[in-house]
Amino acid sequence: MTLRVGVGYDIHRTTPGTFAVIGGVEIPSQVGLEGHSDADVALHALMDALLGAAGLGDIGEHFPPSDDRFRGVSSVVLLERVMEILRERSYRVVNVDVAVVAERPKLAPHRAAMVERLAQVLQVERDCVSVKATTNEGVGPEGRGEAISAHAVALLERSG
Ligand code: MG
Repeated sequence: MTLRVGVGYDIHRTTPGTFAVIGGVEIPSQVGLEGHSDADVALHALMDALLGAAGLGDIGEHFPPSDDRFRGVSSVVLLERVMEILRERSYRVVNVDVAVVAERPKLAPHRAAMVERLAQVLQVERDCVSVKATTNEGVGPEGRGEAISAHAVALLERSG
């Protein structure tokens, strides 16, 4: 049995809006996120962590922004594809931990839904998925509400 760990980071600019998709969940919000896909900053960081753990590059390589197939696409669909790539290589997820840095919207009320969604797509128990939210204490781009960022760590186990 081989264990592999990976780290991921992403940041997206905020934009006036009515909702933001974060952690695979559509959250009512006065700020949206700018991006080529649905701009789900948490899933982008998580996918980079998963691909990094497997030594398989990053989401930019697998889903290039220049490819119109990925315009506006749900990041959950991309995460499902990442999971297929991992399963083809005999990896399964042990656990993941995601930290989202946002001044607003408040994420705590949506955390359970994010965990549920991620556990389903990653095919793990809910206690193998952690989603945390923090503010940036009013400083930096996240603190000023100009952006939302996310950090993720993923642990994979390879069988065979
Ligand atoms: Mg991104």
